[in-house]
Amino acid sequence: MKKYLKLAIIISLVSAGGIHIVRRLAPDEDKQREQAALKRLFPQVQSFTEKTGQPPCYEGYIINDQAQKELKGLCFLTTDVAPEVKGYAGPIKLMLGMDTKGILTGIEIIKHHETPSYVWGIEEPWFKEQFKGKSVYDAFRLGEDIDGISRATVTVSAIAEGVRKSAVRIGRERLGLEIAETEENPWLSVDYLPLIYLSGLLGMALASLLLKTQSWRIVSLGTAIVLVGFYHTDPLSSVNLINILTYRLPGLARNPFWYILAGFAILSCLLWGRVYCGFICPFGAVLELLEIVKAYRLKLSQRLEQRAKYIKYIILWLIVVAALVLNNANVGDYEPFSALFTQAGNWLDWSLLALAIGGSLFIPRFFCRYLCGVGLGLGLISKYSLKQLEIKENCRKCQNCKSACPYGAIEVQPGGALNINPVECIQCHICLNNCPQGNIGR
Ligand code: SF4
Ligand code: SF4
Repeated sequence: MKKYLKLAIIISLVSAGGIHIVRRLAPDEDKQREQAALKRLFPQVQSFTEKTGQPPCYEGYIINDQAQKELKGLCFLTTDVAPEVKGYAGPIKLMLGMDTKGILTGIEIIKHHETPSYVWGIEEPWFKEQFKGKSVYDAFRLGEDIDGISRATVTVSAIAEGVRKSAVRIGRERLGLEIAETEENPWLSVDYLPLIYLSGLLGMALASLLLKTQSWRIVSLGTAIVLVGFYHTDPLSSVNLINILTYRLPGLARNPFWYILAGFAILSCLLWGRVYCGFICPFGAVLELLEIVKAYRLKLSQRLEQRAKYIKYIILWLIVVAALVLNNANVGDYEPFSALFTQAGNWLDWSLLALAIGGSLFIPRFFCRYLCGVGLGLGLISKYSLKQLEIKENCRKCQNCKSACPYGAIEVQPGGALNINPVECIQCHICLNNCPQGNIGR
């Protein structure tokens, strides 16, 4: 039965991957949205050509007073003209309208893969309106020419840069305008302070992992809540996992924080296991803090626990298949991280947050155990980690470690032998201190 289930999952993932590739390569995927955007950007234009020329543009014409066809303006996609500009999750597809003097008639968002719960503001009319009337000679500086959206800085600055670069290139190459070079080194505008804090946090996490000290782990978790949770509001999410799978990544200079965090999470998984969950994830840290006020510790039987853990497999499978088939990573945006750290979310986010917090009062890290796609993704990588935690052979089977593990990661095998499940283990090392034989190690 298990064999057939595995086969069905593999077939569904491969098929979804195939559909994803076909959809991604299909040129007409967003045709309808582009046609609607053309009309909004140039309502007075009577006819548009197909995309033509280099860089490619839709040319908009009117019939003038002399009954002649007159070029009124150009519409173009940032992904055609400045594809190197990336937001949080790859290129952001915007359509720009520009008249023949290089004045923007507006921008329309055709498609993006940014996490919706953080960037909902970019779809608001006020945000798009501020580009209307801007000229190719403007600087499009965030905070000066363009108002940002709090907690969506990476996305908004990518939009501003994509608009400026595309407008300048079209102005020069299609309209023959003379525009001075204003290229800036993107690394000069990086905010290095959070990177320094993050390096400190990762160093502290590594030190506490290697020295096996609980007190440092608690300090790491507390720091992560403040830095990764409330300050940078950027914990890893299932949308990130899907974007990595589908190779939709942010520009390195635009989001080095994310690269360091995601790189650390994956590398540490390959070496030891889910160190990210045990030391860095701010949401897991908040749930772990609830241990202090634990109302009542509910202990599920091993059978029930193992079944409940399959819920997160179903969730991850569903969102990965849906994201691949729909070519939209945002279907994976279900975790309540943004509700907690940015206080912005929909009814699903708030309900899941209440469930995660309420559940954790009875079962430690309730959300991590049963519902988190990121934790499962990292857990699946941890199956192949080089230095897994193991219970050594001369174990007396006293089960002290199993009782001490707050996360149900130690399982009793048929015959009574104990095994640490690398998919579930968050590397907290609590079991190590509870083995009277000192029998647990890597
Ligand atoms: S399981 Fe999810 S919420 Fe829990 S610590 Fe890991 S990533 Fe964070
Ligand atoms: S098995 Fe040990 S290290 Fe892993 S989660 Fe349980 S107590 Fe922590």
